[in-house]
Amino acid sequence: MSGPVTANDVEPDTGHDDASPPCVEVIDGRVTEVGSLPVSRVLPRRPRRTVGAWCFADHFGPSDVEVAAMSVGPHPHIGLQTVTWIIDGEVLHRDSLGTEQLIVPGQLNLMTAGRGVSHSEETPDDVSGEIHGVQLWVAQPERTRFDDPAFEHHAHLPQAELDGGGRATILMGTFAGATSPARTDTPLMGADLVFESAVAAPLDPGFEHALVVVEGSVTIDRHEVMAGSLAYLGQGRDELDLVTEDHARVLLIGGEPLEEDLAMWWNFVARNHDELDQAHRDWQAGSDRFGRVDSHLARIDAPTPHWHAS
Ligand code: MN
Repeated sequence: MSGPVTANDVEPDTGHDDASPPCVEVIDGRVTEVGSLPVSRVLPRRPRRTVGAWCFADHFGPSDVEVAAMSVGPHPHIGLQTVTWIIDGEVLHRDSLGTEQLIVPGQLNLMTAGRGVSHSEETPDDVSGEIHGVQLWVAQPERTRFDDPAFEHHAHLPQAELDGGGRATILMGTFAGATSPARTDTPLMGADLVFESAVAAPLDPGFEHALVVVEGSVTIDRHEVMAGSLAYLGQGRDELDLVTEDHARVLLIGGEPLEEDLAMWWNFVARNHDELDQAHRDWQAGSDRFGRVDSHLARIDAPTPHWHAS
């Protein structure tokens, strides 16, 4: 899905946020729409732009597809990985590598943009019921961000039991002794945690972490965090105690604090405005850089970068 980053999300300046010591900073999502689908954008926000290399998170739905389905036409990306995780419903992904991949709950779609890729995402025509999930972006490091694009689908992901009762599914990296097969370009982790009461999650103290609450609410160090919000947890924790009244589902993300300054605009992650301008021109000109997506949906035009607005 498209996640256009605007000046409503982050300052137009380039930069990154330094990790803080252990803390609980609750950041409410900004409610917006992608296509007609309601989303809560929890990253980037003005108080917090990055968590490790994680630089974007949209919590979409839950929404009845009869009311608001996913329908995002071909659009480009550079310098990032899109991580698509579905709680309910189905999403059909098509990209300029020729991939056509349906994703259902429990599976991971991971697209690595490198120097340039384009894709479309939609609810298949014959699917009814709810659409609910999360799309995240991971910034690629200097070492890989100009490489060829790539796509991975993981139909089966490893799981781990949580202390206190509950289940973790590991999307990226290693968590609770289990390692995802998904490609990571920098040290990071992402896991989906489902639990009914109080659990303890083991953390890598070298990482900074955050939680995106997807269902229910959780209490962390006496701070209550509701669905649609993100809790930034800082760096240096080796364990996280999570409490819920009856049922909660959270996405735990973490990684080594980013050293590189990012410039994020629209669907692009780069290092400065010149790179963003070039990507903008290439997409608008229909350059081969972004290939072609075989989709019945209309191609999405890039807006004018706001640093050029008069
Ligand atoms: Mn996209």
